[in-house]
Amino acid sequence: MTAVVYRVGVDLGGTNVRAAVVDEKGQIRVAVRTPLAADRSPEAVVALARETIERALADAQLPLSTLLGVGVGVAGQLRGTSGVVANGPNLGWREVPFGRMLSAALARPVRVVNDLEAIAWGEFCYGAARGEKDVLVVCVGTGVGAGLIVDGRLYHGASGVAAELGHVKVRFGGEPCGCGKRGCLEAYLGGGNLNKRLQREAYNWPALLHKTAHDPVAIHPGFVEELVQEGDARARGLWDELAQMLGMVLANAVTTVNPALLVLGGTVLKGCPSLQARTEKVFRELVLEIAGEAVTIKSAALGDDGGILGAAALGPSSS
Ligand SMILES: [Zn+2]
Repeated sequence: MTAVVYRVGVDLGGTNVRAAVVDEKGQIRVAVRTPLAADRSPEAVVALARETIERALADAQLPLSTLLGVGVGVAGQLRGTSGVVANGPNLGWREVPFGRMLSAALARPVRVVNDLEAIAWGEFCYGAARGEKDVLVVCVGTGVGAGLIVDGRLYHGASGVAAELGHVKVRFGGEPCGCGKRGCLEAYLGGGNLNKRLQREAYNWPALLHKTAHDPVAIHPGFVEELVQEGDARARGLWDELAQMLGMVLANAVTTVNPALLVLGGTVLKGCPSLQARTEKVFRELVLEIAGEAVTIKSAALGDDGGILGAAALGPSSS
C-alpha cells in the first residue's frame, strides 16, 4: 500500500464542527460536518469533534492509526499557544483547555488556533496570499476579525490575540460589543450586530421592510446592498457610514503593519460589493502614502474552506 500524505483540519464554529482530510496540494478529499448539540459543554463538544474526525477518516478510507494529529481553528480568543480557549462567546466557554482535552480524546497532538488565524494561514498556503510574506487578512462576517502574517509566519502577539481588529474602537462610548466594551468595529460591522440594527431600522424604513417581505427576522445586509444599487439614499448613507469605520480601521492597521497584501473576506463583504468598494475608497484616502503604495487589496479566494485548510496546514501531516 502506498503511503498517503494527508492532514486533518477541524473548524469549530458557533453552530457546527467540521473536519476535513486535506491532501498535500491543499485539496479537500473528504469533509464532514456535524451540527453542535444543545449541550455545548467542553466534554460534549470534544466527543463530537472526535466523532467527526473519525467519520472523515473513515470516509477517506484512512485508518485512525495513520493520524498524526490535527489542527483546529476555534471561533474565540485563545490564551497564547496553550490550546486554552479563554473566551468563546458562541460556545459559552471561558478558560477551556480544549487542545489538551481533544488531544487526550484522540491520543494525538492537537494544535489550536483562532479561526481567523486559520483562515489567514489557509489563504497564505493555498489562496489569495500565496507567495506573499507580509499579509493582513480581514474578514467581515458574523463577527469581524483578522489574521496577520509577518515575514511568512503567523503573528500571535504576547497573549495570542494580535490583530483582533473587530475590537478596535471606532466610537468613544459607542454601541456595546460582545467583548464587554463599547464602540468596537464589530459592534457596527459584525453581521450579527448589523442585522439587529437593520431589524430595528426596518420599522421606519419602508423600502427595507418591503425587501424582507415584511418579515424583519429574514433581514440581512444583502438587502441594503440591493437598495444601494437601486439608488436608495438611506442605504447609501448607511454604507458610507460603515465604510468610513471599516476603511479607517484598515488604513490604520496597514499604516501600522505595512503589509504587501490586504485580503478582504467574510460573508458581509462578499455579499455587499459596493460596501467593499466604498471601504477601499476610504482606505486609499486615509492610509499613509508609502504604506498604501506597497499594499495590494485582494478578495479572499477560499471562502468557507479557508479556515479548515489553514487549520489542516497548521497541524502535523502523515508524511
Ligand atoms: Zn469588542
